[in-house]
Amino acid sequence: MGSKGKKAVGRRAVLLGGGAAVVGTAVLAREELARAWWRLPGTQKKRVEGELDHAGAEWTSASRANWRRADRPDDYTIDRVVIHVVQGSYATALRVFKNPGHGAAAHYVVRKDGHVAQMIRELDVGFHAGNRDMNERSIGIEHEGFVDRPEDFTAAMYEGSARLTAGICARYGIPVDREHVIGHVEVEGTDHTDPGPHWDWDRYLRLVREASKKPV
Ligand SMILES: [Zn+2]
Repeated sequence: MGSKGKKAVGRRAVLLGGGAAVVGTAVLAREELARAWWRLPGTQKKRVEGELDHAGAEWTSASRANWRRADRPDDYTIDRVVIHVVQGSYATALRVFKNPGHGAAAHYVVRKDGHVAQMIRELDVGFHAGNRDMNERSIGIEHEGFVDRPEDFTAAMYEGSARLTAGICARYGIPVDREHVIGHVEVEGTDHTDPGPHWDWDRYLRLVREASKKPV
């Protein structure tokens, strides 16, 4: 997913930068330490088999090759929800996210009838945005259907997805607005166009706000 990039390049640039190298390396080392603390024994959150983040979701795990173990929000702040459209069916999304050769997977897949599958825990980093920083700070939600078929975006799917996003925003204190709930197309450097021009953002955010008011 082209996501190995930025930090490695950044560090190399600093090391090659001559006079600033020592200071730069120290700063980077501190950042690395801050990010690595969760690897120390006893600091990882307890994981319970079958535990889900979204009530009512069906758990079906993505391939271990398509996400990275983390301890969010303690090691990385979660402040974005990234909306995707599969360009295929719900079954296709589940199949490719379970394929270790695919190299990508989202945390959730929403079906046209509003059913939600969770494939990666929210504390882990899913490879869905094609951008390492965005993957580390976001939760990815895939939606069954095609970007050029507005009829694929059913009322049940919008509502099911909105309940999911409302829960995510509540869990991490993410504002419900278009700066924080974004499309894959808006991720820096992406060549993806999803969710496309037919995704009704006004309707979606209205539904997320309505769902936010209801007790879970
Ligand atoms: Zn996408």
